[in-house]
Amino acid sequence: MERIKILKQEGRDKLFTLNLVPGITVYREQLVKINGVEYRAWDPFRSKLAAAIINGLEKDVIREGDKVLYLGTSTGTTASHISDIIGEKGLLIGVEVSARVAREFIEKVAKPRKNVLPFLADARFPSRYSGFGKVDVVYCDVAQHDQTEIAIANCKLHLKEGGKLLLVVKTRSIDVLKEPSEVIKDEVRKLSESGFARISVIRLEPFDKDHALVFSTYSGALASAS
Ligand code: SAM
Repeated sequence: MERIKILKQEGRDKLFTLNLVPGITVYREQLVKINGVEYRAWDPFRSKLAAAIINGLEKDVIREGDKVLYLGTSTGTTASHISDIIGEKGLLIGVEVSARVAREFIEKVAKPRKNVLPFLADARFPSRYSGFGKVDVVYCDVAQHDQTEIAIANCKLHLKEGGKLLLVVKTRSIDVLKEPSEVIKDEVRKLSESGFARISVIRLEPFDKDHALVFSTYSGALASAS
């Protein structure tokens, strides 16, 4: 069964994910039946991953059965859709530093979904969460000035060889005075110097201003050579 659906509605692409816990919503999103099966509307104005897919990121960048390390889950809007996509055979390891936000994430997302493992932790210290083996994907959306360094440190420890990094670059978190395209170029350079290849940048306008999602593949061998 398709875990992500893209349907044309009113001339626009709309995204839906197969609801892992039928009848339950996370952020008051719409529930719809498609061929008798329940899907959740995935709002590109609320989720940068949805915005990136609508703007051209390959739809199956995260697949059924994947293990995903998610840094900066917040209350779980995007994380819950990834949990739908990876399904019961997958695992989403969610890291969030704010206790208040993490509590909401646990109540709304981790408790009802058996494929979610939450950690209340600072992603700047990746050795503080472990015990889940190497992951297929690292998704990083911490909105910090050192977000790229945080992503790289986590990939070095937790991402498998050939695994994928999805890094949300909030350009204004890094430098409010610099042109967003210059900020993105600098972050891409840091990745290419740290063992990441096949790097592509997806801008998120009109859904999200001054944000981009940077997609790349990790090679530990390249990292140790540089
Ligand atoms: N990814 C979320 C979504 O799409 O639903 C939104 C994430 S929000 C922009 C950034 C989150 O990262 C906040 O909840 C913040 O508390 C968290 N965060 C910031 N610094 C962090 C750190 N060092 N470690 C873990 N989480 C962090």
